[in-house]
Amino acid sequence: MHELTHSPLPELASYPKVRLGHVPTPLEFMPRLSSRFEPLQLYVKRDDCTGLGFGGNKVRQLEYYLGDALSKGCDTVLSTGAIQSNFMRTLAAAAGKLGLECHIQLEDRVPGKSELYHRSGNRMLSGLFGAHISFCPDGEDEVEADLRVRALADELAASGRKPYVIPLKPVRKPKGAFGYADAALELTGQFQSAGIEPDMILVGSGSGITHSGLLLGLRLLGSGIPVLGACVRRPADLQAPRVLGHCNNLCEMIGREGMVTEQDIRVSDRAYFPGYGQLTESVTGAVELAATHEGLLLDPVYSGKALATLIAMIESGELSECRTVVFIHTGGTPALFAYQDDMKL
Ligand SMILES: *Cc1c(COP(=O)(O)O)cnc(C)c1O
Repeated sequence: MHELTHSPLPELASYPKVRLGHVPTPLEFMPRLSSRFEPLQLYVKRDDCTGLGFGGNKVRQLEYYLGDALSKGCDTVLSTGAIQSNFMRTLAAAAGKLGLECHIQLEDRVPGKSELYHRSGNRMLSGLFGAHISFCPDGEDEVEADLRVRALADELAASGRKPYVIPLKPVRKPKGAFGYADAALELTGQFQSAGIEPDMILVGSGSGITHSGLLLGLRLLGSGIPVLGACVRRPADLQAPRVLGHCNNLCEMIGREGMVTEQDIRVSDRAYFPGYGQLTESVTGAVELAATHEGLLLDPVYSGKALATLIAMIESGELSECRTVVFIHTGGTPALFAYQDDMKL
């Protein structure tokens, strides 16, 4: 029913993919933010506009996870994430579109959150897309969260379903990252058309899947552009090895060991603290700056923190060698409504 396809990158051609996103997404110059941070030239890759169920970066990842699930004849998908997880929302949307049963587990990962946080934004949309929702009280224990999902998958299998689990913990074959290797191909073409040679690509780095996929794609294409991951989920000293681990696994999956090396991994946690999903004035300020200067909606958990990281790095002089920076807008905008109280709006 849903035709499987594969990447235009020959190295990835053996990994099935199902089309879900509106791509290519636009690459846009941000004139007013650029003049604010002269002499930087700031561009934004609009992956908030990938289309499906309010879009975002998970759409490209799901093209590979669900391509894999469909190619294996699975009829049920399961995963786990934070209450305001964009992944769970997008998975629910994609499952509905593909006619798959969807079970998501939501973890209480962010302390002291409002009623809106527990009901609105992504949480509301996941319900609307028809996902079966369960809850996990401890949001910091990845192993426990995965075990609970696996137990549910076993139950469903015993009753005759064919479950496909997307775990939280890093896996040996992080296929979703290939979606961002494809995005790297799209980007390099857009850089050429726009006549730009970026000095850096900035992306929010959570699970690190997007970050590692972009790196893999760029290096496969012979591009050495640095990719800076803005830490949103854990500090830099923990995030760097995680991203490297994904990169090593990806290289192994396509038989191109050493394509990405430790020197390629760059992360900054300048806007990470006090922790995942927790706002500071610098993050709120970054969200407001993008909204008022570019009519661009960011989110408080990921893309807002990524822009706050960029601004902190500009202000500290770390980017004095850079002229052209491309910001990957990974989406997440439904969480704005869930964070309305925290943003004092
Ligand atoms: C998940 C997410 C990220 C982080 O992507 P990873 O692949 O998990 O590193 C960044 N931005 C948004 C909006 C997200 O939902």
